[in-house]
Amino acid sequence: MEKRELLHQGKVKSVWATPDPGLCIIEFSDAITAGDGAKKAVLPGKGALLNKISALLFTRLAEAGIANHFVALAGSAAMLARRARLLPLEVVVRNRTAGSICRRLGLEPNLEIVPPLVEFFWKNDRLHDPLLTREHIALLQLATPQQCDAMASRALAVNRVLKEIFAAAGLDLVDFKLEFGVAGDELLLIDEISPDTCRLWRAGAAESLDKDRFRNDSGDVLEGYREVLKRLEEAQCRN
Ligand code: UDP
Repeated sequence: MEKRELLHQGKVKSVWATPDPGLCIIEFSDAITAGDGAKKAVLPGKGALLNKISALLFTRLAEAGIANHFVALAGSAAMLARRARLLPLEVVVRNRTAGSICRRLGLEPNLEIVPPLVEFFWKNDRLHDPLLTREHIALLQLATPQQCDAMASRALAVNRVLKEIFAAAGLDLVDFKLEFGVAGDELLLIDEISPDTCRLWRAGAAESLDKDRFRNDSGDVLEGYREVLKRLEEAQCRN
C-alpha cells in the first residue's frame, strides 16, 4: 500500500498515512537513541531487524488472542498497521529489577519481582517521562480509569505470552515497555516490541542482548539484536 502524508515523526520511527484511513505505515529507521535522545547513533540494518522482530512478536501475540495493530510487513523496514489515537503513556512490565526502578528505589539489579509489576510513565520529553500513579493519569486526563485497568491487565497478558516465547528461545524477559492507542472504541496494542523496548538476557546469564548494550556501551548492539531474531526464528521452527 502506498505512503501518503507523514502523520508522526518520532526519534526512531515515522508513521505515514495510507489511502485507507484505518491503516498506516510504520517505518523503522536505523537510528538508536538513549537518555531522552542525548545519546544517538545510526546502526545500518537495525530498522529491518526490529521490523522483523516486532512483526514476529505481534503475530504470535495475535495468535494467542491479544489484539494488536500489526497487519502485514510493508517492506524490509516497514509494517502496515491499524491506525489509532496514541495514549501518551508508556506501560512498563517488570519481571526482574533493572534500569530505572533500581535508580528510583535503590534496589539491587536482577531481583525477581513476583507478581510482575506494571508501571505507567508519561510520554513527555520536557519532563523526562515521569512515573505516574493512576490518580496522576486521571488528574492529567491522559486516560480513563477503565483504560488504565484494561492496559494493566492487557500488559500482564502480553507478559505471560512473551515470557514463554522468549523462554523457548533461551532468553529471559526482564522488563519491557508497551504503548496503547484507541481505534474507534477499541483499546489497541500499538508501537513496537523489540530489543529496543525490552530487556532480554541470555537465559540465566544476566547478559544483555538488548538496548542496554547501547545505553552502557557494553557490546555490539546489532550482534545482540541479530541473535534475538535468530533465536526467535529457530524456536519458531522447532514448534
Ligand atoms: N523503555 C522504552 N522506552 C522508554 C523507556 C523505557 O522502551 O522511553 C523500556 C526499556 O527498554 C526497558 C523498560 O522499558 O525494557 C523499562 O525501562 P526503565 O524504566 O528501566 O528505564 P531505562 O532504564 O530505560 O531508563
